[in-house]
Parts: sequence; C-alpha cells; structure tokens
Amino acid sequence: MSVVRECLIAKPARGSAGKTGLWRTYRPVIDENRCNCCMLCWLYCPENVITRNGDRVEIDYEYCKGCGICSNVCVKKAIEMVLEV
Ligand code: SF4
Ligand code: SF4
Repeated sequence: MSVVRECLIAKPARGSAGKTGLWRTYRPVIDENRCNCCMLCWLYCPENVITRNGDRVEIDYEYCKGCGICSNVCVKKAIEMVLEV
C-alpha cells in the first residue's frame, strides 16, 4: 500500500503583516547605481514585496514592514534603511 504525502511548505504571501506603510519606522531605499539585480533581497524578504521591473528592483512600500532584512543580505550594500519622516 502506498502512502501519498503532501508537502506542507508555506509560500510567502505578499504583505502577510497587512499594509504596514503607516507604522513602518525605517524604509529601505535602493541605490540603483550599486544594485546589480541579483534578487537576493527578493529571496529573503519575508513579506514578498520586492519585485524586478526590467533593470530595476522595486519595493512595494504599502506592504514593506521595514524589517531591514533586505538591507542586511545585500552583498552590494545597495539598500539603505532610511528613517521615515
Ligand atoms: S540584494 Fe542588493 S544588489 Fe541584489 S537585487 Fe537586492 S538591492 Fe540589488
Ligand atoms: S524591509 Fe526589506 S525585507 Fe523587510 S519587508 Fe521591507 S522590503 Fe522586505
């Protein structure tokens, strides 16, 4: 008798913490001159709010919670965490 097992791997959901634009303290800002579009930040972003648009990498600030993980993993140091004003 064979047993079929289903994989229970959670997929990241865009903006799983809800719209965070109002309470975020720091926002990640990408320096396009440094970014080489490696998409490592996309891989690590827990909110799945980083996308590639042609030669540009974009962040959806409506759902970004400002955790700074993208900035920490960027080997090009292309993401600066800037205080919200
Ligand atoms: S990790 Fe850094 S270099 Fe790579 S796509 Fe993101 S911002 Fe660009
Ligand atoms: S700070 Fe970076 S890693 Fe954190 S939610 Fe925003 S884009 Fe994603």
